[in-house]
Formats: sequence, C-alpha cells, structure tokens
Amino acid sequence: MTDLPVFGAGIWHFATYKDRYATDGYGPPVGLLEQIDRAGAVGDLSVVDLNWPFAGYEGTLEEVKDALKRNNLTAIAITPEIYTRDFVKGSLTNPDPGVRKQAMELLHQATELAKDLGCSYVKLWPGQDGWDYPFQVNYHDIWNLALDGLKELVSAHPDINFVIEYKPREPRVKIIFPNVARTLLGIEKIGLPNLGILLDFGHSLYGQETPADAAQLAIDYNRLFAIDVNDNLRGWDDDMVVGSVHLVETFEFFHTLRKNNWEGVWQLDQFPFREDSVEAAKQAIQFLKAVHHALDVLDDEALAAAQASHDALAAQKLVQKVLLSSMAEIV
Ligand code: FE
Ligand code: FE
Repeated sequence: MTDLPVFGAGIWHFATYKDRYATDGYGPPVGLLEQIDRAGAVGDLSVVDLNWPFAGYEGTLEEVKDALKRNNLTAIAITPEIYTRDFVKGSLTNPDPGVRKQAMELLHQATELAKDLGCSYVKLWPGQDGWDYPFQVNYHDIWNLALDGLKELVSAHPDINFVIEYKPREPRVKIIFPNVARTLLGIEKIGLPNLGILLDFGHSLYGQETPADAAQLAIDYNRLFAIDVNDNLRGWDDDMVVGSVHLVETFEFFHTLRKNNWEGVWQLDQFPFREDSVEAAKQAIQFLKAVHHALDVLDDEALAAAQASHDALAAQKLVQKVLLSSMAEIV
C-alpha cells in the first residue's frame, strides 16, 4: 500500500456562512482562532489555506501562528481577498487605476505574509474580475490588464509559487479565468515558471469539463500546482462534501493524479452550510482514504489495456470492482 497523501482544507470550511437569504448567517460567527481549532479537531488535516486580511480578527499574527502550532497545522497557502467590496468591479482588471493599485498592494502584502508563514503558494481567485452583461467591457483590454498585472506580481516574487483558481462564474456572471484551457493560455503567455493552476474539482465539474482531462492537460503543461476537492450537482458551485455525488469522476480525477505521480495536497474546499463542519471534513477524509485505497488495488495494466481499445465497459468493470469494495471498508 502506498503512503497516504497530505490532507488539507480551506480554513473557511470551519466558518459559518451568510448568503442573500440568511443574511445573519447560518450559525453564530466563528472567529479565526476557533476555525483553526476546529480544523485541528478533524485529526487528519495537516495544512490549511488562510484567507487574508483576516476579516473580523482582532488578535495578532503570533496568536494565529500559535493556534496553528497547537493544532499541528501549517499554512500551505494565503488567499488574498481580492474579491470583497473594494473590488466589486475587479481587482487587477478594475476599470479604476487606483483600485488596481490597491489590489496590487494587497497582493504584495499577502505574498510577504505567505513567505513569512512558509506557505507553498499564494492563491489567486479573481472572482470579481470579469463581466456580467454583453457590451459591458472591452474584452481585449480586460484580458491584457489581467495578464500584465499577474506578470508584474509573479515576476516580483520568484521565490514563491502563485496559482490561479479558475471558476466559470459567481460572483461575476463571467469570470476572466473560467476554465483550464483559457487559464493555461494566459499562464503560457505570461511565461513565468512560478505561476500555475489550482484545479478546483467542483469548478471543473460545473464548468462542464471532465475534471480528469483538465488535470491531465494542466499536468502536461507542468502547471498543476494544487487541487481543491468538493462536489456539486453540476449546475453551481455547491461545495458539497467530496464524493457525495460524482463518485466515479472523483475517482478518475485522483487516478489521473496518481498515474502522473502528482504528489500535492488533497485539499478540501467544502462549504457545510447546514452540517457540522468537523464531521463534514472527517467524512470527506474517510472517503478520500477509500479512494486512495482503491487506487492501490486498481488493476492498472488491465485498465490501460481497456483504454487502448476504448473499451468503456471493461474499464467500468475494473473501476466499479475496486471503488465499491473500497467504499465498503470505510463504513
Ligand atoms: Fe476552491
Ligand atoms: Fe468554489
């Protein structure tokens, strides 16, 4: 049996959430240090991705570091909040040069914090960079602002990696990095070694990609730096517990990573609105351990032979055999 991967989670997994209906939130607010303690309570998590600035947090950075340490956690990433109220018309692509400058300053500060915390990467999620209406933006200009801004940022910090997490929509109706192909196109045009992709399985799913194919493409261009996993019903970024809907495609995704000897963190990006956050993470990790076991026992040679002749039924039989038996072990 192969060694288990490192498991991680976005720290927001352990927060409570608001939306445009439950405007008071789905539960009482959970402070940053308590979120970290909850992440620690999962038991199998080793790393977390932290949003920054730490919204609503009034303590010191030392206290954050202490909280991570007492829970045997390290920060794998900082996610700078370039998608909050200041940036409703975009961050690096904002029409106002002053706001673009503000975004760049925030990104540089977040990068310095990421280095201080020993993170592997800075995660860029340009969720407000895009458009909503036809004729709203000049597509040439907004694309070039995105690439020029990224180049300026990433080239200034050759000692740390940056990842773009693509997503088809939400909050903008159209986001400037919506899929693997367009994101790779931008990254290749920028041409820097320390800029890659964070492939969020759920974003790929509801963007109507085949997530395993998206992963393979990013790997073939040496740009798959990180992954997030979760699940959804393919119409929206539901951020449900991983494996709850798309069992076979989740397995195919991890099989693609295994086949390519990809050894990054298996990171949860779930939003358990109505579930207990610690239990949701525990259950997700139990599922991921079963996936890992299924990968160990899959007959790779027989699968390769089936794929060589595009034999769908033979491939399904091999997959179902290991997947369903491995799932039975976790009950
Ligand atoms: Fe994500
Ligand atoms: Fe998402």
